[in-house]
Amino acid sequence: MKSKPLIAVDCDLTLVDSDKHWIDWLEKVTGTKLEYKDRLDYDLTKYFKAELAYEGLTGYEFWNSPTLYDHMEPMQGSIEALQHIKSLGVDLVCLSRVMGHHGASKRAFIERYFPFFDATYLCGKNQKSFLHCDIIIEDRCEELKGFTKDTTGIILYNRYIELCPIDCLLYVARDWSDVAKWCQLLLDKTEEKVYGCI
Ligand SMILES: [Mg+2]
Repeated sequence: MKSKPLIAVDCDLTLVDSDKHWIDWLEKVTGTKLEYKDRLDYDLTKYFKAELAYEGLTGYEFWNSPTLYDHMEPMQGSIEALQHIKSLGVDLVCLSRVMGHHGASKRAFIERYFPFFDATYLCGKNQKSFLHCDIIIEDRCEELKGFTKDTTGIILYNRYIELCPIDCLLYVARDWSDVAKWCQLLLDKTEEKVYGCI
């Protein structure tokens, strides 16, 4: 008997708008306002280079905080969409990269808002493809490198634009409502494959 489909969900910029907090922190420590940009780079330190150097900071200190996620809130619609996806009969896990000392705070955030997840896997850079999942929900195409055609990627686009060559299939979602629709469609297709239905 085939086990349930496995869906992995990224955390930063997928479940939580962590960069809103990173921008707030960068503005506070440098005393500089970030000018509005339509398409920001993932590396927000680029916009504060001189000011950070003046303060003797790299800008990545933000990610080292052991209480980083203690006051963050989930992306709009993420809880409802994932509850719906879970009800479709899948195993649902969080799969997120950790930096510095924020791991325990990130895990607590996931358990607080998404108690219906089956597991939380925290890993280092370029390590996500250790998990053989059927669907992965991400904000970064880059993070899908290493996954094979057995995995389908759903990219939840926000203010960032980044495309790169990858092996897995790719769908694009504008918001969490789109993610839920894509998952439903993809799972229906899986059902056809498994049971040979038309
Ligand atoms: Mg992310």
